[in-house]
Amino acid sequence: MSLTSPGAPGPLPEGATTTPPGVVGPGELLALFRSRAHLTRADVMTLTGLSRSTVNQRIDLLQEAGLLVEREPHVVPGRGRGRPAGSFAFNVERGVLLVCDIGATAMRAAICDLSGTVLRDLPLLSDVTEGPEAVLARVDPLFSRLLESSGREAADVRGIALSVPGPVDHEQATVVSPPIMTGWDRFDVRGWFARTYDCPLLLEKDANAMAWGEYRTHYSDADTILMLKLGTGVGAGIIAGGRIHRGADGAAGDIGHTQASGDDRDSNPACRCGNSGCVEAHVGGWALMRDLTAAGRDATTVDEVVELIRTADPVAVSLARAAGRVLGVALAETVNILNPRVVVVGGQLAEAEEQVFAGLREMVYSRSLPLATRRLELHRSRLDERAGSVGLALLLADHIFDPARVDAGLGAG
Ligand SMILES: [Zn+2]
Repeated sequence: MSLTSPGAPGPLPEGATTTPPGVVGPGELLALFRSRAHLTRADVMTLTGLSRSTVNQRIDLLQEAGLLVEREPHVVPGRGRGRPAGSFAFNVERGVLLVCDIGATAMRAAICDLSGTVLRDLPLLSDVTEGPEAVLARVDPLFSRLLESSGREAADVRGIALSVPGPVDHEQATVVSPPIMTGWDRFDVRGWFARTYDCPLLLEKDANAMAWGEYRTHYSDADTILMLKLGTGVGAGIIAGGRIHRGADGAAGDIGHTQASGDDRDSNPACRCGNSGCVEAHVGGWALMRDLTAAGRDATTVDEVVELIRTADPVAVSLARAAGRVLGVALAETVNILNPRVVVVGGQLAEAEEQVFAGLREMVYSRSLPLATRRLELHRSRLDERAGSVGLALLLADHIFDPARVDAGLGAG
């Protein structure tokens, strides 16, 4: 029995679920097990209000599909021929998930269990502007190595998720009109991986994946959070109402290409998007490399920029502080519009926390409306370079084990 239809996840078939509204179907039951360590049949009856026979039938169904495993089975003394009162748990080893967080200049691939926990990961330097074929041809061997080192094979893969530094059509899993990702526009990413893997594939914007990772692991109590990614470029991911806010066309959160300077094109720094004066053209990792190189420093990667700031190079420190203020102004406007509870700052430049955060805090708290900053928290990413892969794995697990999708896969409709 397969839980996942081949290729695109797509919408659920019409009328896939006939479990009456308000009644806990097998998919909902699995969601219960996914949120708890383990439960006995009696626990399930108490939590769902389902009858013993229905609980038994649904647990049997999930167990036959390999999605539940019985733990510590033992026969309760004096219960005669009754079922053993063992407890059941979600079988997180019933397959694996593969994810890859593709950045502008590096990628990180990971193999995860079905709970979305990262088991192993592999980083690799890679230039996203080389185009989809060249970049995805690097992801393939990373996935193969991760599977091999985990004793798994392609048939064990239940889902794949990738993130990229550009706008994404989430439904189609394609990159759309990316400012910097040459050749990626509408490239068939699903088709690429369908040659090797028979499973759903999700594509997400990098800052969204990071935002989801931070939200689910550290800030799940916050209704609205903003993830600011400071890497080669500048981007943001928004979680609103406990969901990723992608916008009508997947362009939400593109704070890096909002204007940081006036309309005079001649005096503004040119941006990679073709415009000039964008936030990113002042403070993106690439812009800092440009300014440090012009000042005679050796900075050809964002890591080198961070190193110069950390070693207190006066030009680098001055640029970092100015960058913090430019970002702070842009962030203050976003805070006014979005009113997030938490702003999380990640990406390589967040490592220069001391220098960048001062200006950022100053501008956010002085320029935002008092009501919007009254309970606002500003934190550095806790997941750091793994925020993207953690977020992708959790998104993928939620997608695959969406209750209605599970019911459809089990034929429980
Ligand atoms: Zn721009």
